[in-house]
Amino acid sequence: MKTACWLGPRKIEIIERPKPKLKSGEVLIQVESVGVCGSDIHYYLEGRIGEQVITPPLILGHEFAGIVCEIQETKHEYLSGKRVSVEPGIGCGTCEYCKTGHYNVCSNMRFFGGPGCDGALSEYIAVPAEYCFPVPQSISAPIASLVEPTAVALHAVELASVHPGETALVVGLGSIGLLTAQILLISGVSQVVGIDIIPHRTAVAKQLGVHETFIAPLKNNIEESVSWIREITNNRYFDITFDCTNRSEGIAIACHGTRPTGRSILVGISGKDYDPIPVGIARRRELKLQWCRRFRYNFPTTIKLIEQGKIHFDRILTHHFRPEQTQIAFERVANTEDNLIKASIDWL
Ligand SMILES: [Zn+2]
Ligand SMILES: [Zn+2]
Repeated sequence: MKTACWLGPRKIEIIERPKPKLKSGEVLIQVESVGVCGSDIHYYLEGRIGEQVITPPLILGHEFAGIVCEIQETKHEYLSGKRVSVEPGIGCGTCEYCKTGHYNVCSNMRFFGGPGCDGALSEYIAVPAEYCFPVPQSISAPIASLVEPTAVALHAVELASVHPGETALVVGLGSIGLLTAQILLISGVSQVVGIDIIPHRTAVAKQLGVHETFIAPLKNNIEESVSWIREITNNRYFDITFDCTNRSEGIAIACHGTRPTGRSILVGISGKDYDPIPVGIARRRELKLQWCRRFRYNFPTTIKLIEQGKIHFDRILTHHFRPEQTQIAFERVANTEDNLIKASIDWL
């Protein structure tokens, strides 16, 4: 079968590999679409996200959907021939966290397209049946591949324990930020505002219903963002803030934008092991900082929200590429060229 294989920094090539053989409990997926994630870009460029290191050759891709084309146990008949979205993180099932439902923080997790585990940028992938979630006919394959990042956004909003009427700030309006903003808008908040350094992204946020946006300058973006936040909130700041950026400054802006005793949810991945946190402001305001690790049990609800038309992807999923163009796609995503927000690699 054909795979798009990472061979080292900035190098992805089409390589033939044997079709996977099913192990117990697995089904075979004919991959239709794979979303390109910011975390994939860290791996593509540097081969690492902090201390998480990948070694070539490795097949990336963890946001994916496809058709179940082979099963081996009759109890998985219900999946046969169905389009499914797949949860990419397989918990060990036996540790303290897996056993208490927090499989997203399992330290023995096998993650498709992560260290030591091939991902979905290939014609076929074998996955555990219980990690497959059928999607209705109305959801196309590229959108089904985005159930994964949408589930991250849903988990982030859940972690914030939103109360009706609260105000929220989303820092970073890439796909995760725009999805988070949309979920906040259907979660009863009274105001959602967003900040990004790319004007096109703030424009898209506005089109999706975000109430106010700010284009942060590249220089002094913390100071400039904070003074804008003060102005539009009349020095009250926000009840909840989300860092959805891929930069260290995102955490600082989110903390500075949070009102005393408010919550800041840290979703973004700067790619570094250490990011500066404004501890003075966090302590004086007694902020609650909450990190977010992917998702847990969020796929079914995410699929329902998408099916009901509550989340819009038309301005988010901006680019489609063929498998042979995978390297070009990764370069475009890395450089945020051509108003690209989210790209998918479409195999069928
Ligand atoms: Zn992702
Ligand atoms: Zn575990």
